[in-house]
Amino acid sequence: MSPLFKLSLAAGAAVMALGVQAQGFPAKPITLIVPFAAGGHRQGGARPGRSPAQALGGATVVVDNAAGAGSTIGTAKAFRAPADGYTLLVAHIGMATTATLYRNPGFKYDEFEYLGLINEVPMVVVGKPGLAAKNWAELSSWITTNKNKVNLANAGLGAASHLCGLMLQNALKTELTTVPYKGTAPAMTDLLGGQVDIMCDQTTNTTSQVEAGKIKAYAVSTAKRLTTPAVYKDLPTLDEAGLKGFDVSIWHGLYAPKGTPAAVLKTLNDALKAALKDPEFIKKQEGLGAVVVNDARANPAEHKKFVAAEVAKWGAVIKAAGQYAD
Ligand code: ASP
Repeated sequence: MSPLFKLSLAAGAAVMALGVQAQGFPAKPITLIVPFAAGGHRQGGARPGRSPAQALGGATVVVDNAAGAGSTIGTAKAFRAPADGYTLLVAHIGMATTATLYRNPGFKYDEFEYLGLINEVPMVVVGKPGLAAKNWAELSSWITTNKNKVNLANAGLGAASHLCGLMLQNALKTELTTVPYKGTAPAMTDLLGGQVDIMCDQTTNTTSQVEAGKIKAYAVSTAKRLTTPAVYKDLPTLDEAGLKGFDVSIWHGLYAPKGTPAAVLKTLNDALKAALKDPEFIKKQEGLGAVVVNDARANPAEHKKFVAAEVAKWGAVIKAAGQYAD
């Protein structure tokens, strides 16, 4: 499944708790929209020990990978879905960046029911197998020498990989050839096959490949170095490698269509909070470099406030890079 699956896990884990908390809800399967492509080969490491269906005592969570256009297709689908709690959306930082990147993404980011933030995930710059560059210094000089002969994969306009790639090109003052995919799971397949050269993606997608030695990681996107997973601990931050001020960490949150009944929202939020405290879930996420949210942003109002601030923050970065719809 896509990297977003790893957060669909979070949402799945949230829904797990419903079995014990809800009264009459859910009475039928819940569709969880994941707005990026599936890509089965990487889900193994992130699977929780029990399935959502088991934990729900028979209820089913169906993941709908409504991929395309940097998450806007799936997010718009969730926006238009019936507001009954049976269609939920797991969205990432694209919820905020698309507000600036698209004239009309097909939804209004502030017209969802916010259920709570799930996790934050650092990103890493990775290169295809066999790339000669041994470290970030060599990679960046290879990039600036070869410019648009270098293919940079991303998951479309609005994806986290798009944002990181945009900042990278800006900081290196060079324009690369960007290759958009419906998710970074299929992009990873092409990176492994050598059809694209580099990508900046969240650790939830890259870790198993880096650990297996199939691809090389060069630098981390966050202001601080990573201490886990161990495979990243010697990597420089892009900031310390010379790209001053570079700091991107992406997040994922859970949403329902506007107008979903308050009692259902409360049940879902309670379930999310329970899942965020699940040691098994926390451990799986940490193993992939993600940090499970353990603060006020697990509450709808704080989650909404946080996303509004992210719209302003990334809107300014995107406009400064000259990439906005007006
Ligand atoms: N990692 C992707 C991104 O760049 C999303 C995905 O495929 O899940 O936003």
